[in-house]
Parts: sequence; structure tokens; C-alpha cells
Amino acid sequence: MTTTTDTSAVLAAPAAKAAATSATMTNLLEFDLDGLAAFCEKLGEKRFRATQLFRWIHQRGAHEFDAMSDLAKALRDKLKGCAHVQALPVITEHVSADGTVKWLFDVGDGNAVEAVFIPEDDRGTLCVSSQAGCAVGCRFCSTGHQGFSRNLTTGEIVAQLWFAEHALRKRLGRDERIISNVVMMGMGEPLQNYSALVPALRVMLDDHAYGLSRRRVTVSTSGVVPMIDRLAQDCPVALAVSLHAPNDPLRDNLVPLNRKYPIEELLAACNRYLEHAPRDFITFEYCMLDGVNDQIEHAQQLIALVKPARGEGVRCKFNLIPFNPFPASGLLRSSHAQVQAFGKLLSDAGIVTTVRKTRGDDIDAACGQLAGDVKDRTKAAERMAKQRTIALKPVT
Ligand code: SAH
Ligand code: SF4
Repeated sequence: MTTTTDTSAVLAAPAAKAAATSATMTNLLEFDLDGLAAFCEKLGEKRFRATQLFRWIHQRGAHEFDAMSDLAKALRDKLKGCAHVQALPVITEHVSADGTVKWLFDVGDGNAVEAVFIPEDDRGTLCVSSQAGCAVGCRFCSTGHQGFSRNLTTGEIVAQLWFAEHALRKRLGRDERIISNVVMMGMGEPLQNYSALVPALRVMLDDHAYGLSRRRVTVSTSGVVPMIDRLAQDCPVALAVSLHAPNDPLRDNLVPLNRKYPIEELLAACNRYLEHAPRDFITFEYCMLDGVNDQIEHAQQLIALVKPARGEGVRCKFNLIPFNPFPASGLLRSSHAQVQAFGKLLSDAGIVTTVRKTRGDDIDAACGQLAGDVKDRTKAAERMAKQRTIALKPVT
């Protein structure tokens, strides 16, 4: 059973109120703790006040300053005059039979982004968006087909977690943490929105906010090599790399960013990252496309890439994602048997390989189905339709 609710009237109340306030108000969701401390300092307040405020917002889900009872009244009044906690208006909420919840958030100008909560026995994972649309334009991704609209701000990235965590706590009547893992696998390429991403990651990790372990926060990237290096320095978290092809001609076609950062450079960046990463492996995501990248020779080429007879290779795990089809893609999902056979080849070569379970199928919440309501401003769909006439031949 699927429940679909238009929750815009109910859930967006704080946001709507906030939106009505002046544009000069500062949204406190935009700040990591250092940022909030700097903001408080400008108001003549000490750092520990910022910590209190940060805890109220992120640990308790407070958005009204008057509810923050251990802040002095003078400070609360000061804050009311210049700041707010501005959530994203919720357009729709869908609850899947398997417990997956998908929210569509309004980010203005006809753009919407999605976040998906996936409950499992031992964890609760939130899949978060980083951009409205995406400029990379992968062939198999419906976000990519819509083109790029704009980067989300730090506050808009954080607002997805803030809202989901506290809405779920209320709904389930629980006081403790519900979301234990965050994956930046929603709409957009997080490493093409680096300056907003890093403070958002810091909020996720901060013990005064969500206190997530670095191993449980994953940035997924199509391979923006220079930014992989920067992330290693600025905020190393778990890294997933969307590989999808074992050779450059095929990857150039599926993931156009490969023309700029080819596989060899990407794998070298993965190895540099591993020196700083909280996990000792990179997760390679591999979307299984029938007759395109799912043949035996592709598996053999992958093995040669990551476990070469000579040379370094990459410490990695593979996550095979059965393609989630959408009409405009012109691509098909590999058969179950093909996915299993492909996985077995990798496993037999000593590579830990999992097949991603599809969750929230009944509410279109699976990977690559996150399309929001983004306008096709860059005419990406049109361009891709033309491109589709170029045959995607399996490489022998
Ligand atoms: N831009 C980032 C993160 C968002 S996409 C990236 O590409 O890694 C999250 C994952 O979903 C990526 O591995 C992506 O390749 C995969 N994906 C996209 N479209 C898909 C589809 N239609 N079916 C299955 N997986 C898809
Ligand atoms: Fe962008 Fe990732 Fe989709 Fe590629 S798969 S178009 S990088 S969101």
C-alpha cells in the first residue's frame, strides 16, 4: 500500500511563516558550528551560546527562539529580529509499503528536490539531494535528463536532514536519533556544489548536531577528480564512486564527465582518497544496463582495473544497482540472472560485491528516479534524445 499525502499545508507551516519574513533574515540552517559562532560573535555573544543554539536547532528540532528556554531573553529577542530557522516547504510526502518515505521539497522558482528515508533493521538512511537538477547528464539518470537548474545552499541541504529527522521522531513518538546514515545520493552531483556541501557535512558530523560517524556519511560522485582530493583534506567521509563502465569509450557515453576525468585519473584519485578516508575501501556503484555494460567482458575488464595482475589496483567494494528505468532513457534493466552472474564473476575474483535492494519502488523513490519537478532549462532531454541514436555497443 502506498500513502500519498499533499502535506504542504500542514508540514510547511514554519517555512511558510519564515518565508513571509524579510529577506534580510539569516537562516541559521546555513551554518556549521563555526559559522554559527561567527554569527553569534557579531551579535556580541560568546561561542558557548552558539553551541546552545546549535543544539536546540539540530538536536531538538526547535525553530521558535522562545522555545529555547536556556537562552537569555535578551538574546532570544535579538535573534528574533535578525534570524530564523527556515525549513523547506514540503510539497508532497509518499510513504511506501516497505516503510520508505519520500519527500518532495519546494526550493522555489518551480524547482523541487527530493529526500528519501530508508528504514532497515540496524539503521535508518536518509538519501539527500545536493542540487536542483544536475549538469553531468548521465544517460541512465532521470535527474541528469532534466539538466541543471541550480546548486542548493548549505541550509537547503541541511534542511532535508533537519526536517526528516524531527518529522520522523514526532511521527514515531521517539526521542532518540532515527537517522543513523546519510548518503548524498539524491538529486545532483555533490562535488559540483562543493562549497555548500562541506559545511553541510560538518553539521551532519558535529556531536552538537546529528553526531553521525564519518563512516556513516557517504558522498557519492560521478568522479569530479580535483574535488575528491579536496574532500580528502577538508572533510573525509565515506566515498562512493559511480563507475558504471569498465573502459573510457563506454564511460564517456554513459557518464559524460569521464571525458574530462577518465578512468585512470579517477582510480588514482580514489587511491589518494583512501589515505584519508574513514573506511578502507571505495564503494563503486555500477548501474546494470541490459546489453550495454553487463556482459562478461565488462566484468573481466572491471576486475583487471581494480585487481590488476601487476600494479596497484584499488581497495573497493562493488554495489550493483539494477537500472531503474524511466521512459525517456531508452535503456533497459539487466535481467536478474545477468546481475547475479556479473556479481559472481566479481566475487569469484575476490571483490566484495552486493546487489542493491530496490526500496520504495511503489513510490518512485529508487536511485535515478528522483526527478523532482525541475524544469528542463538546459534542454538536456532533447540533447539526449538526439544522442540516443548513437548506438551503445557493448565493448569487446
Ligand atoms: N551524482 C552523484 C550522486 C547522485 S546519483 C552520483 O552520480 O554518484 C546516486 C546513484 O544513483 C549513482 O550511483 C547513480 O549513478 C545512480 N543512478 C542514477 N540513475 C539511476 C537509475 N536510473 N537506476 C539506477 N541507478 C541510478
Ligand atoms: Fe548527475 Fe549523478 Fe544523475 Fe549522473 S547519476 S546525472 S552525476 S545525479
